Amino acid sequence: MKIIKSISEIRKEITKQKCNNKTIGFVPTMGTLHEGHLSLVKESVNNNDITVVSIFINPLQFGPNEDFNKYPRNLNEDSKLLQDFKTDYIFAPETETIYDTQPSVQINIPELFNILCGRKRIGHFSGVCIVVTKLLNIIQANNIYMGKKDYQQLIIIKKLVKDLSINSKIIAVPILRDKDGLALSSRNLYLSKSERLNALAINKSRAIIKKLYKKSYTVKKIEKEIYDVLTKNNLEVEYVEIRESTTLKKTEKLNEASRIFIAAYSGKTRLIDNYTIKECLLFL
Ligand code: AMP
Repeated sequence: MKIIKSISEIRKEITKQKCNNKTIGFVPTMGTLHEGHLSLVKESVNNNDITVVSIFINPLQFGPNEDFNKYPRNLNEDSKLLQDFKTDYIFAPETETIYDTQPSVQINIPELFNILCGRKRIGHFSGVCIVVTKLLNIIQANNIYMGKKDYQQLIIIKKLVKDLSINSKIIAVPILRDKDGLALSSRNLYLSKSERLNALAINKSRAIIKKLYKKSYTVKKIEKEIYDVLTKNNLEVEYVEIRESTTLKKTEKLNEASRIFIAAYSGKTRLIDNYTIKECLLFL
């Protein structure tokens, strides 16, 4: 496994691999890797000749009051894990390498940026799209692996790739959860014991959705019930919304593919999660 920090060096390696007709799988991350990230890496290693994992904390996608400075950084630990998982290259550039000039280009997908997480995190998805476009131009991946944990991001990147005819296929990987049901996230490290216990209400709300869906409650009523349950568990809810899985459009007619999106703070830590009605029906 090679750890590469410069764009020219990774480009050289990619060119060499492509000349040998190798397929490239790519997993973009911000590091502090957990089993969730590693499930993406596993998918890539199993389905491509070469796997590249990028570790880059992208300042463009953090707002002024967000946790860019305190976001955990663990390149040594991450490298050991990735080596065990048979990664071929880690691309871990410095901020100045990716942004040697401040980009002036703007990317906007209004119907997808101005909903859910994008309502409060102004500029976030624009920053995500710029860095992903840059990384895809550098890595030239055949396949890019993204988690359903960041479902809105996944749909946005699918649209970006389609609209700009980027020659990479996006593979969506299911959310990996801890034994207690909390979706794995690098930010879970911030949670105290009690904050973590409160956060479990997010996953447990699946049982309530299952009950209400079976009783044919309206979308509005289900959203309100879940909002109230989360609030009672000391979470500060940013949104609870049910939307269509492929378009992220609001829906009034529920079906098993409809998806519930939740963002809530436990203490100061912002958590997101999502699941389909079908996943709620399967919840014990
Ligand atoms: P991040 O390092 O948070 O930017 O995440 C990098 C990639 O890992 C994104 O595509 C995430 O959706 C994915 N990811 C993060 N947590 C999980 C999880 N618990 N299960 C599956 N994928 C995840």
